[in-house]
Amino acid sequence: SAEVINGKDLSYELKQEMKEEVNVLKHKGLTPHLTVIIVGDNPASKSYVRGKQKASDEVGISSDVIELPASTSEEELLQIITELNNDSTVHGILVQLPLPEHIREESVIVSIDPSKDVDGFHPVNIGRMMTGEDTFLPCTPAGIITMLKSKNIEISGKHAVVLGRSNIVGKPVGQLLLNENATVTYCHSRTNDLKAFTKQADILVVALGIPEMINDTHLKEGAVVIDVGINRLDDGSLTGDVDFDRAKEVTSYITPVPRGVGPMTITMLLKNTIKAARGLSGN
Ligand code: NAD
Repeated sequence: SAEVINGKDLSYELKQEMKEEVNVLKHKGLTPHLTVIIVGDNPASKSYVRGKQKASDEVGISSDVIELPASTSEEELLQIITELNNDSTVHGILVQLPLPEHIREESVIVSIDPSKDVDGFHPVNIGRMMTGEDTFLPCTPAGIITMLKSKNIEISGKHAVVLGRSNIVGKPVGQLLLNENATVTYCHSRTNDLKAFTKQADILVVALGIPEMINDTHLKEGAVVIDVGINRLDDGSLTGDVDFDRAKEVTSYITPVPRGVGPMTITMLLKNTIKAARGLSGN
C-alpha cells in the first residue's frame, strides 16, 4: 500500500530552512514583510489569514493585517493597494479572496505590483509562469510540485491528469507539471467519461471540491495521487476529494487531508514573501 506524503512534516522542514534564510536577511538589515488585506468578516477567510500570520511569525517574517469593512468600495481598496505598492517596507501584498460582490476581483489582482504579488495571481506573473521565467508561482500548485520532488517522484515523461480547471489550482498546476515535462491532460465538469482519463494517470491531481469522489476504481495500479480538496463535512471534520482508505490500496504515493497539500500552500506563501524581499530577478 501507498507511501503517504505528509505535507505538514514537509512544511515543518521547509520552515526551518526558511527561518535560517530570514535570519541571514535580518542580519543584513532586511526583514521580509507581508501585508494582508481582508475585506468583510467571512469566518473561513479570517481563519486562513490567522494561519498565514502565524506561519509568517514562525519563520521571522513580519506581517500585518489590514481589516476593512464589507462596505469598503473598490476605489478605496485600490487606493490602499496603491499606497502599499509605493511603500518600500512592504515586500508582499496579499488580498484575501473572496471579496464582497461589489468589488471586482480582477481589478484588484491587476492593481497589485507584480513584484509584490506573493499569491502569484497577477496576469503578468501567470504569463511568466507559462513562459518559464522567474516569477512568484501560485502557492497551492507550487506546493504540489514541491511535494512530488520531496519524494523524488519522476514527473518528466509521465502522464499527469489534472481534475479541475480553476485559476488558482487546476490550470496552474497543469502548467507547472508541463514545465516539468509531464504530458498533461485536464479534466473538468464537462469531461465525458472521466474514468477513461483517470485510469491512465501516472500522476493524478484532484482539485474538484467534491468529497471523496475519486476512489480505487478510478486509478491505475501504482499511481501517485495528490488530493487538493478541502471539504468540511456536517460533523465538522475535513475530508479530501479522494477516498483515502480505498485509494491507498492501489497508489504508490498519496497525500492525506488534512496534513497534505493545505499546509504546503501557506509554506509556499512564505517562500514567495522571502523572494519578494530579495527582489524578483528581471524586475
Ligand atoms: P473550483 O470550484 O473553482 O473548481 C472545481 C473544478 O472542478 C472546476 O474546474 C470544475 O470544472 C471541476 N469539476 C466539478 N465537478 C466535476 C466533476 N463532476 N467532474 C470533473 N470535474 C468537475 O475549486 P478550486 O478553487 O480549484 O478548489 C478545489 C478544491 O480544492 C476545493 O475543495 C478547495 O477547498 C480546495 N483547495 C485547497 C487548497 C489547499 O491549500 N489545499 C487551495 C485551494 C483550494
